[in-house]
Amino acid sequence: MKEKEFKSGFVNIIGNPNVGKSTLMNKLLGERLSIITSKAQTTRHRILGILNSEKSQIVFSDTPGIIEPNYHLQSSMMKFVHTAFKDADLFLYMVEVGEKKLKDIGFFERLQKTKIPILLLINKIDKSNQEKVEQSTKYWHKELPKANIIPISALEGFGLDIIMNEIHNILPQGEPYFPDDALTDRPERFFVSEIIREKILLNYDKEIPYSVEIVIEKFKEEQHIINIDAVINVARESQKGIIIGHQGKALKKIGTQARKDLEIFFKKKIFIQLFVKVAKNWRDNEQDLKRFGYFI
Ligand code: GDP
Ligand code: MG
Repeated sequence: MKEKEFKSGFVNIIGNPNVGKSTLMNKLLGERLSIITSKAQTTRHRILGILNSEKSQIVFSDTPGIIEPNYHLQSSMMKFVHTAFKDADLFLYMVEVGEKKLKDIGFFERLQKTKIPILLLINKIDKSNQEKVEQSTKYWHKELPKANIIPISALEGFGLDIIMNEIHNILPQGEPYFPDDALTDRPERFFVSEIIREKILLNYDKEIPYSVEIVIEKFKEEQHIINIDAVINVARESQKGIIIGHQGKALKKIGTQARKDLEIFFKKKIFIQLFVKVAKNWRDNEQDLKRFGYFI
């Protein structure tokens, strides 16, 4: 009997903000690569997560939610989304029960026309009921007739085995794209900055989380400890004070929370120092955006 050939490919997760894309990718990988919060636009970059097995290598990518860009940072975020069409072997298009079409109509039309296979995941069925899920299924069957529709709960892990089976069926045969011990294309520094950003998202209100960008200036790994210096860039002078807080308490809290998560992530002791700098209006400054790793 002929041995089955190795399969490999790119599975790109897309959908409106907050539908559960990052939750799903983390669940499928069994690792916490993408930060998750209840705030929209938590995911700014495209993050690859690689799942290796003896039979296959699946390269998932988690994208920022599809949005109509309001400012420069957002239009750069959308470029990460559009590159999803270039390399996808399969789309996981995620919606919530009851949700209608993508906010970006142009993107949705591209999705209707594409020849790339689509699994349409109706997420968060844990907070819904059968009737609503059936209505949703009918609606999407009309809007995207060729998509394979799967109701799931990313949070509770319901339906994930069905998704994995479908992925294995659709994935093309081919050589692995990355070494078989790779988990992501992102360097360690990226995850440090994401964990710090998550703590900022959780601890501050209003425009603060959307105004910060983290730069890791030092990541020095020794045998028993990792030394990290991180700069929190803010867009305005007034935001600096808010981040630091009275007698530095707010910043200290961020540092402590981040350190605890980083120690779990790297399985090592962490020493972290946080600095706050003003990068005036960085979200509209091309040089700053490039420096922070966004495409212009
Ligand atoms: P993304 O913006 O699409 O990446 O969404 P996230 O993965 O960041 O999730 C947004 C919010 O939805 C978070 O508060 C998640 O805990 C929540 N969420 C994700 N999946 C589910 C689900 O299956 N059920 C419920 N009830 N909540 C979910
Ligand atoms: Mg996300």
